[in-house]
Amino acid sequence: MQEQGRSSMLGLDRYTAMSPGVGAPTGLDDEVRLDVPWATNESARGVCGNAACVSSWTMPWRNRRRPLFEGEWGCSGRCLMAMVRAAIRRERGERSVSPVNSVHRHRVPLGLVMLAQGWITHPQLQMALEAQRSSGSGRIGDWLVSECGLESEQVTRGLSVQWSCPVLSLDGFTPEQMALVAPRLFLEEFGMVPLRIAGSRLIYMAFEARLDASAALAVEQMTGLKVQSGLLEDSHLRIARARLLECEAVAAKLEQAGDEDSLAARMTAVLEQRQPVGSRLVRLHGYYWLRIWLESRTKSSAGTMPRSAEDMEDYVYPIQGRG
Ligand SMILES: [Zn+2]
Repeated sequence: MQEQGRSSMLGLDRYTAMSPGVGAPTGLDDEVRLDVPWATNESARGVCGNAACVSSWTMPWRNRRRPLFEGEWGCSGRCLMAMVRAAIRRERGERSVSPVNSVHRHRVPLGLVMLAQGWITHPQLQMALEAQRSSGSGRIGDWLVSECGLESEQVTRGLSVQWSCPVLSLDGFTPEQMALVAPRLFLEEFGMVPLRIAGSRLIYMAFEARLDASAALAVEQMTGLKVQSGLLEDSHLRIARARLLECEAVAAKLEQAGDEDSLAARMTAVLEQRQPVGSRLVRLHGYYWLRIWLESRTKSSAGTMPRSAEDMEDYVYPIQGRG
């Protein structure tokens, strides 16, 4: 356990802002990169991960197993920075395409879905729409519950038809482990509730009212596990969220950085100071998320999921000029 620097870690436990993320359902057919932040190629160890590295001489005094960034060792601060910079560029470009696609993907309105399924009548839909219109706010599903006496369970079923995704249950929910999946800031801001891992390779992730493909992809890339997204009934969601908040999360630090140069410098400084045996950068909507594994025993048997919060750290950088 490395104590150094721990005291400066800020818990992100106190975030209360909640907004459903914008996005589309997880395309399970999408190709997912599951490259893990561990050096998988033992023989490559000791070779600098910066393709443009100019230091050809050996430096026997340097520890060649740390710091590792995305499975590659950086021989110097300069090379580490070049590797981080390349990763930032990759993450910046990667998901600029998918949100556009998902925005334009047509989705049948929930009220019409429920009508087509025969779960509500025309007058009920009219009543809910009128209530929504005159109040100027609220989701149609909530109005169907409050004005038309529908069970929230039925609304969740309607949403699952609308999003073509399953309604998940709390069976097998493992809050202690799930609290380690991602910083609480993300769980709260993007309305995602990780539920459980199945077969060491799949993670069930519940969303509140709509799926968030971008958030799901970021979790896949960080954990090395396939994400199965689904919805959870409101009452179950509240229970799950409360239990998650009671459990210990990975220490997370929210850092401000300006442009990409200063962002790369900040991340490089973290890697140089903390000397992790594994680290990975992903982007999640308006944030860069750097996760570091300080000891190899911190990794569990499921993907790159941490065994516990010990010797794990998350660094979150809001992207400038965005939400
Ligand atoms: Zn180098």
